[in-house]
Amino acid sequence: MKIQVRQVKSIFTKSMIPGVDFVINPFVGCQHGCIYCYAEFMKRFTNHGGDQWGKFLDIKLLDFNRIKPHKYDGKSLLLSSVTDPYLPLELKYQNTRKILEKLICTTASITILTKSKLMVRDIDLFKKFKNIEIGISISTLNEKISKIIEPIASNPLERLNALREVHEQGLKTFVFISPLFPVITNYQKIINESKKFTTYYMFENLNFRPHNIPRIFKFIKEQFPELLKLYKQFKNNPDQWDLIERDIERFCQSNDLRFSIEFHHGGFSKS
Ligand code: SF4
Repeated sequence: MKIQVRQVKSIFTKSMIPGVDFVINPFVGCQHGCIYCYAEFMKRFTNHGGDQWGKFLDIKLLDFNRIKPHKYDGKSLLLSSVTDPYLPLELKYQNTRKILEKLICTTASITILTKSKLMVRDIDLFKKFKNIEIGISISTLNEKISKIIEPIASNPLERLNALREVHEQGLKTFVFISPLFPVITNYQKIINESKKFTTYYMFENLNFRPHNIPRIFKFIKEQFPELLKLYKQFKNNPDQWDLIERDIERFCQSNDLRFSIEFHHGGFSKS
C-alpha cells in the first residue's frame, strides 16, 4: 500500500449527486479496493494514473479549525462519495472523527455511508448531531463472495452488527443495497436480516464502467461461470434491469418498507 500525506485547503466538495449539496472525502483512494468501485476515475485527477485502485491512499491533511459548521446549515453533506470514511487507516489518522468533531454545531443533514464496522467508534459523536443518518452499503451476505469483491471492507455480518449497534443508540439508519449483482445479490435476505434496525432502504444496480468491466467479468467467470451469458446481457442491454426494479418495488411495498431505487440504465437513472 502506497501511503502519502497530502496538504489540502478544504475538504468539502460541491456535489453533483441529487439531494447532496457537499461531499466530504477524508482520503484520496480507498483501501477497500472493491472490484466494482466507480470511484477509480479519481486516479486521473490526483496524480495516481499509474497506481492500482485499492493500493494507494492519500491522507488529506488540513487545518481542521478552519471548518465552519454554520456555513453548512440547512445543506446536505455526504461522507463519503469516492472513498470510505472508516477505512482501516482512519484508526490511525482519525480524519473522519476530526471533521465530525468540528461539524457538531451544524444543522446540516449529514449522511454517513460506509462498509466498515469502525463506524461504531464515533457513535458518541453521531449522537451530538441534530440531523444525521448512518448507512452501510452491502451487496451480499456471503462472506466468501464479499472477500473477493470487497477484500478489505468489514465482512457483511460485521457491517450489519455495527448498524444494529448504531440503531440501538436511537440513530437513524439505512441500508444501501449496492451494487446489486443480478442473481448473486439476495436483496430479500439482506432486508430480512436487517429490517429490525433499518429505517429505510436504497437500491443501486451494478454499473458497468470501462475500468471495472474486466474485474467484474473475471469474478463472474471464476465464481459463477453459468452466469456469464446473463451478465453480458445486462451489460449490453441495461433495460434488463427493469424486471429487477419491479421485483424490488413489489417486495418493498408488500413488506411496508421505506425505500428508493436509484438504478442507472446505461448511464442514467429512470427513478
Ligand atoms: S468502499 Fe466504496 S469507494 Fe471504497 S473501493 Fe469500495 S466502492 Fe469504492
